[in-house]
Amino acid sequence: MAVHQARKRFGQNFLTDDSVIESIVRAIDPARTDRVIEIGPGLSALTVPLQARLDHLAVIEIDRDLAARLRKRFPADRLTVHEADVLTVDFAEFGSELRIVGNLPYNISSPLLFHLVSFAEQVRDQHFMLQKEVIARMVARPGESDYGRLSVMLQARYDMRHLFDVPPEAFDPPPKVTSAVVRMVPLSAERPQAKSERAFSQLVARAFSQRRKMLRRVLADWQIDWAEVGIAETARAEALSVADFIRLADYLVDQGV
Ligand code: SAM
Repeated sequence: MAVHQARKRFGQNFLTDDSVIESIVRAIDPARTDRVIEIGPGLSALTVPLQARLDHLAVIEIDRDLAARLRKRFPADRLTVHEADVLTVDFAEFGSELRIVGNLPYNISSPLLFHLVSFAEQVRDQHFMLQKEVIARMVARPGESDYGRLSVMLQARYDMRHLFDVPPEAFDPPPKVTSAVVRMVPLSAERPQAKSERAFSQLVARAFSQRRKMLRRVLADWQIDWAEVGIAETARAEALSVADFIRLADYLVDQGV
């Protein structure tokens, strides 16, 4: 088959290190009948070992040439190729107990993680290769410099674990950054939940728009009795836990803000 020129606009950095590929597949540990969906299969580095361990694998690939190669390479009854932009994919159509995996295109990682939040109910787990720095933001705790909107929005929905780092040399072409693999498991229905997801996500976005300012200044046009909410008047967004944000969002909903 003709050599494929990596396309920068699709964030194409292909995994070439067999030991990294093996570690990712071991971390996923698929059983034959698991419903696995791979995002961005590219030149099949993960697709081959995954497909070998599964009765069926679904993949989502935006690059027309790569999608055509995949269709040629694998039998249609064992691999379904969805040629699509993953940001527009309705994962509800794949059913439930989904296991979503991928060495993700780094240029869309945040929008993609937010897109997937809406399908968390259908998901059993997610294993992703991402920029190490993005994973640090996902798992950061209140008070840490990496703690921000991504941490709060994802920690409200998933239990997340940074599994291992992957150096640039494991890819062709090598990215400029160090990568890492994260496991994300949706929290159960008994998790603390905001009364309004919309109010919660708007509050978090607004609170972190000026993270160094005191919250009472960032939210100055809302009447908030901080003592009643149980948050210090001088607190900054970076000090609030997920539970604090949920309480504050619920308070604002109750106030009709
Ligand atoms: N999985 C392969 C590997 O590990 O070698 C390729 C990983 S490469 C970092 C990212 C892959 O995602 C590429 O195949 C790229 O074409 C695909 N991709 C980029 N943007 C996408 C999008 N919006 N929707 C679906 N696939 C996308």
